[in-house]
Amino acid sequence: MLKDIFMALSENQILNGAAKKYGLKMGAQHVVAGTNIAETIESIKKLNAVGISCTVDNLGEFVYEKAEALEAKDQIIAVIEAIEEHQVDAHISLKPSQLGLDIDYDFAFENLKEIVALANKYGTFINIDMESNKHLQPSFDILDELSKEYDNVGTVIQAYFYRAEEDIQKYKNFRLRIVKGAYKEPEEYAYQSKEEIDKNYVELIEWHLLNGKFTSIATHDHNVINHVKQFIKDNNIPNDKFEFQMLYGFRTDMQLQLAKEGYNFCTYVPFGNDWYGYFMRRLAERPQNMNLVVKQVFNK
Ligand code: FAD
Repeated sequence: MLKDIFMALSENQILNGAAKKYGLKMGAQHVVAGTNIAETIESIKKLNAVGISCTVDNLGEFVYEKAEALEAKDQIIAVIEAIEEHQVDAHISLKPSQLGLDIDYDFAFENLKEIVALANKYGTFINIDMESNKHLQPSFDILDELSKEYDNVGTVIQAYFYRAEEDIQKYKNFRLRIVKGAYKEPEEYAYQSKEEIDKNYVELIEWHLLNGKFTSIATHDHNVINHVKQFIKDNNIPNDKFEFQMLYGFRTDMQLQLAKEGYNFCTYVPFGNDWYGYFMRRLAERPQNMNLVVKQVFNK
């Protein structure tokens, strides 16, 4: 019930638009690294100092104007330049819809290509985040086209989709982030129950650890993490074939602990003014995250 409310709020374009004007509010500052690149580089440096690498996401969605998509592209290019200038251990996560996929496929493709080409020059990896089902196939198409020319690009497999098993086999030679899936998807395309999603999630991780190039296990679920640790041990999976990932500000103690134990760890670092949809999806996933909001209200 709460999940549905937060999911509907995350898609409300009026609230998304309004939130941009007011800076980080409602506790979002605990899970968003900053509103600008300078603040974000400082957050990355702090994580790097404790042995954690970062993937940086310039927040933004519901982009239906070319000018807005071009602005997002320029911002991502500026982040790539900043990563290079400051020599921080970080790469980029981006959403095709922010770069114009809802406007025109070719336009979005050209924006992505410009980003991937520049990043390739610096040896910076670009992860194409996966969004809702309507973006899924065009995002894979973009990856197919880009990978003909560049090898610094990879993507995400969302375990709630029935087609995930087929996709993971097709893309096994890519660096892949495997997640449960964050959007509300219909039964036509996706598993609905937590049990089915969790089961498929673990199976996909195991398959890719055994057969794939590099696996990013992106979850806050300690049961999955403990299971994977044992699986890795039992199957002698080398440390340089996988990493754990979590979102900035969530389970920080566990993030530090995993890095301390010697696992590669990468924190997903979102930044920018367009934080509202991202924040509402996190509340939908785990209504207990409302604590962040409540603390904010009462600490004033
Ligand atoms: P859940 O199923 O939400 O939680 C499982 C259990 O873990 C909970 O019952 C609880 O016991 C424990 N737990 C979870 N969170 C906490 C917490 N904060 N504190 C204490 N205990 C907790 N989705 C996409 O669709 N596309 C993407 O490109 C994408 N990229 C992602 C990148 C990263 C780095 C991460 C971490 C997630 C990404 N996601 C993405 C979101 C993902 O699909 C899930 O929606 C999200 O991670 C929630 O699922 P979960 O696996 O973390 O655990």
